[in-house]
Amino acid sequence: MSRRQNLHTHTTWDDGAASPLDMARAAAAAGLTSLGLSVHSPLPWDNDWAVTADRLPAYRAEIAAVRDAFRGTLDIYDGIEWDSRSSLAPDGFDYVIGSVHTLAPGGEDASVDCSPDVTRTILRERFGGDERSMARSYFAQYAALADDARVDIIGHFDLLTKFSQRDGLFDAHAPWLLDLAAQAMEPLISAGRIFEVNTGAMARGYRTEPYPSLPLLRRLHALGGRVTLSSDAHRPEHLTYAFMETEAWLRDIGFRELWVFDGNGFVPEPL
Ligand SMILES: [Zn+2]
Ligand SMILES: [Zn+2]
Repeated sequence: MSRRQNLHTHTTWDDGAASPLDMARAAAAAGLTSLGLSVHSPLPWDNDWAVTADRLPAYRAEIAAVRDAFRGTLDIYDGIEWDSRSSLAPDGFDYVIGSVHTLAPGGEDASVDCSPDVTRTILRERFGGDERSMARSYFAQYAALADDARVDIIGHFDLLTKFSQRDGLFDAHAPWLLDLAAQAMEPLISAGRIFEVNTGAMARGYRTEPYPSLPLLRRLHALGGRVTLSSDAHRPEHLTYAFMETEAWLRDIGFRELWVFDGNGFVPEPL
């Protein structure tokens, strides 16, 4: 591929471990031709993972400076990982990754990205222990992103199954779960959304396959879905984590192209 990129990355401006400059240096050293920084959008409740609205202008000024510093070496894009519960409209960014991290029924938003205990508590207290009900609620929030044309990419689509392999919470390969997820995929595919194949949970030791899971990627391919590849990197050493093996899995499934951002829009690159 002529273009190698990662559009889903975080820095010390949100819950990442390195500055935008250090992420850019590492991306260039790893052989990427472009790097998208995708800060977590501001949220309407206290949290320790998203940028706050008042810091966003300074963050974006820093991204612009890094973009200038790397001009001709590495293309830097000013993206956003926009949470569907965000207090900010996803306007004016190079591209938008739409992500669902939380569930709200019966109380305040609670994240399925935190820990097995938190996910278990949501399941018990908000959904009476009914996994199907919780999964239905979760994937319905993703399906709603079909109605917002500002969203380009669907981020970590089955994050709900983050603790499947290590902690036995939600069987990521259960036929009922795959059915629910595939139903939510359909309107997103029809609306032109690109699905992110995200190796972040592999890099952090939670699972041995990307989001979406391999069986879900087979469903996605059968439905005619499009994919992009990213690692949701929170540190420089994860910028290209498991990209080669994931590309091989995608080819095995039948995908023949990855969709990449070229500064104006998304274009296919042969896989
Ligand atoms: Zn996320
Ligand atoms: Zn992320």
